[in-house]
Order: sequence, then structure tokens, then C-alpha cells
Amino acid sequence: MKISLPSALVDKLNNLQEDVVSYCVPLSELSYWKIGGIAQCVVEPNSIECLQDALKITSEFPEVAKLIIGDCSNLLFDDEGFNGVLIKIGNELSKITFHGDEVYCEAGAWVPEVAYHSYRRELSGIEHICGIPGRIGGLVYM
Ligand SMILES: Cc1cc2nc3c(=O)[nH]c(=O)nc-3n(C[C@H](O)[C@H](O)[C@H](O)COP(=O)(O)OP(=O)(O)OC[C@H]3O[C@@H](n4cnc5c(N)ncnc54)[C@H](O)[C@@H]3O)c2cc1C
Repeated sequence: MKISLPSALVDKLNNLQEDVVSYCVPLSELSYWKIGGIAQCVVEPNSIECLQDALKITSEFPEVAKLIIGDCSNLLFDDEGFNGVLIKIGNELSKITFHGDEVYCEAGAWVPEVAYHSYRRELSGIEHICGIPGRIGGLVYM
């Protein structure tokens, strides 16, 4: 499949760190629901700096669709796919830390894991999220 993104955008994205940018990705491989056509481009940042760079680059091309995603458990893509750039926040940005009785997590932390580690520390308040199959960023957004 031919990439139909502006070549200047592709050039800039290709300057991001190695292995964080993929083109012509079947959405069925990304989506919790295993459906969807082809995404023109998927960026999976492996650091906050890389995420900031990706957001800066994509903001320079407002005519190109951009969407931040987690596990796509609350998104349905059709067979047309996604003609733009998906920024996937996943395992590479999933740190969970505890300070006293407060939990801090990066947006890519897996929701059941946050609940589990909180439970292990005998913390209360997020029991209800233990069965939600997504990432904290998506949960907060929703
Ligand atoms: C079986 C099942 C049970 C569920 N139960 C619940 C429930 O009890 N309560 C509930 O609230 N939800 C529930 N959900 C909905 C959904 O799974 C959650 O909201 C989940 O946390 C979404 O996370 P995700 O990573 O899959 O997000 P996605 O589906 O990838 O994205 C959802 C939305 O958030 C945006 N988004 C994702 N990540 C980010 C980010 N880092 N920054 C900015 N925007 C972002 C996306 O653009 C999209 O609009 C359930 C879903 C399923 C399938």
C-alpha cells in the first residue's frame, strides 16, 4: 500500500527515534476488537520526550488527521482504516509509582495492573476499574 501522507511529515517522523514509527499498519493488530483497515502511520513513543516530539511534528501538519490511542477498547475502526497518524500510548509509557497512599501512573499503564498493584498495597478507591481492558490515558479521557 502506498503511503499518502505529506512527504515532509514522513521525513520528520522518520527522524524520531528508531523503531517508534510504522507505516501501513493493520488496525486489527492494534485494536482490542481486532478489526479495522490500515492505519497510514502509527507512532509508539518510548519516552516522554519522544511523545513531545511526535506531538510537535504532527501539530505542524494540521491538515493530517491525528489521534492518540491506547488499546482501542473504546474505539471501533472500520475497513477504511485511518488516513493519518495514530499516536499509541502503551507499554513504553506505563510506569506506575506509589507515594504513600497515592498512585501515579503514566498514560500507558494497563488499567487492571494499576488496580492490582493498588490492591497489593491495601489501597482503596479504584476497585471498580480492575476489569476495564484499557490504558489509564484512555480511561481518564473517557
Ligand atoms: C469489557 C469492557 C468494559 C469496560 N468497562 C468500562 C467501565 O466500567 N468504565 C469505563 O469508564 N469504561 C469502560 N470501558 C471503556 C474503555 O475500555 C475504557 O474507557 C478504557 O480505559 C479505554 O482505554 P483504551 O486504552 O482502550 O482507550 P482507547 O479506546 O484507545 O481510546 C479511548 C478514547 O480516549 C482517547 N485517548 C486514549 N488514550 C489517550 C491519551 N493517552 N491521551 C489522550 N486521549 C487518549 C482516544 O482518542 C479515544 O477518544 C470498558 C470497555 C470494555 C471493552
